[in-house]
Amino acid sequence: MELRLYDTLSREKRTFVPLDPNNVRMYVCGPTVYDFAHIGNARPVIVFDVLFRLLRHLFGEAHVTYVRNITDVDDKINDRAARDFPGLPLNEAIRKVTEQTGQQFHADVDALGALRPSVEPRATEHIGEMREIIERLVKGGFAYAAEDHVLFSPQAMNAANSVLPRYGALSNRSLDEMIAGARVDVAPYKKDNTDFVLWKPSKPGEPSWPSPAGIKAEGRPGWHIECSAMAWKHLGEHFDIHGGGIDLVFPHHENEVAQTCCAFHRERMANYWMHNGFLQVESEKMSKSSGNFITIHQLLADWPGEVLRLNMLKTHYRSPIDWTMKSLEESAKTLDDWYRVAADVAPGKPAGSVVDPLLDDLNTPLAIAALHGLRSSDVPALAGSLRLLGFLSESAAQWEGRKQQASGVDAKEVERLLSERTAARGRKDFGESDRIRDLLAAMGVAIKDSKDGTTWEVTR
Ligand code: AMP
Ligand code: ZN
Repeated sequence: MELRLYDTLSREKRTFVPLDPNNVRMYVCGPTVYDFAHIGNARPVIVFDVLFRLLRHLFGEAHVTYVRNITDVDDKINDRAARDFPGLPLNEAIRKVTEQTGQQFHADVDALGALRPSVEPRATEHIGEMREIIERLVKGGFAYAAEDHVLFSPQAMNAANSVLPRYGALSNRSLDEMIAGARVDVAPYKKDNTDFVLWKPSKPGEPSWPSPAGIKAEGRPGWHIECSAMAWKHLGEHFDIHGGGIDLVFPHHENEVAQTCCAFHRERMANYWMHNGFLQVESEKMSKSSGNFITIHQLLADWPGEVLRLNMLKTHYRSPIDWTMKSLEESAKTLDDWYRVAADVAPGKPAGSVVDPLLDDLNTPLAIAALHGLRSSDVPALAGSLRLLGFLSESAAQWEGRKQQASGVDAKEVERLLSERTAARGRKDFGESDRIRDLLAAMGVAIKDSKDGTTWEVTR
């Protein structure tokens, strides 16, 4: 079966044909590093990790390049640095914030079972590429300098008679409607209200670099140009897949396409544009004010990362997710069971019943349903399929041990109580035996008697 992917630009599922099967190239917009990432941010990380793993499975590990950037220049970073390190020079404070946040992000996504991308470029290390793209855009008549800013003109792009795509094609908007609907109190340095910033002046003390387009004052890049520059540097002018959350389609990705295609006279930037749907928490939009804002870091204190991963993949990546406690509990039970039966089994080949739905635009809910089927029919295939999806990174004993640690259950104490209970049952003291069972239940331990003896597990 061939891989089919839904492309936001053509609005259909298309067979995936790589530009070069020896080097399949994917770019995904990464985090802006100023604070802990929230559980919504984990969605593109997990979804595109599954795609990365699937592409490696299909084309070979050495034949896939996955680039996910780190945005380390941004107003939110500057604000955070000034707030958290008021005694330090701003640039030093910014370095502290981005280093700390970058490390937290890595710790979080490692725990989610996400492979590290092939390259994780930082925006501040690609200012030269950004300047070069901006110079090309100015030379081509798509951008202009005004009051120490450089602006991109979508209207110039759509007036150009060439191979270029239409500005607005990706987000399915018409530039005329954008012009009509734009705010009137437009920034004075913009010729048209639809123009967007490629470069802007830095305020005193802020990070700054020599400017392009003959501007004397130092400045800093806009957000959209960063991704055009990093994708170009690491994947070339034209590559296979570009991903991110659905909120990035406009303006971020629309503007990336515009910049890259105009700078390099290309019809396309990426052949497939993929976007994950949004995540909400307990049926509400996540927001700091409504108190349902959860970070990955907070969730990892209560749940193993693989539980969060499974919980995310139970919903198809393009559908919205409602993230609930109830669903998390079910995901935890499922994984406990899979660990018990499959973690210590030599993995077989991933099953066709799991891979085929993945080939159909990453249909993970169907793949997970197939895993449930394999549990009773083919445990080695279950183990191999789970590993393909990024599960079973631990042994069954490690998994159980971590659960006990997380719940504060002392295994030795449980075993001691169980042998007391066995002794009580032996002398037919069922009152005492029940008392011990209730005591264990209060500790979060459930027991099960069978003809082979008593087993126990930690309930959450
Ligand atoms: P940001 O740091 O806000 O640029 O977001 C990083 C990534 O997370 C982007 O791909 C966003 O589209 C994605 N993202 C942010 N919030 C959510 C959410 N609630 N649900 C799904 N994806 C999200
Ligand atoms: Zn981006």
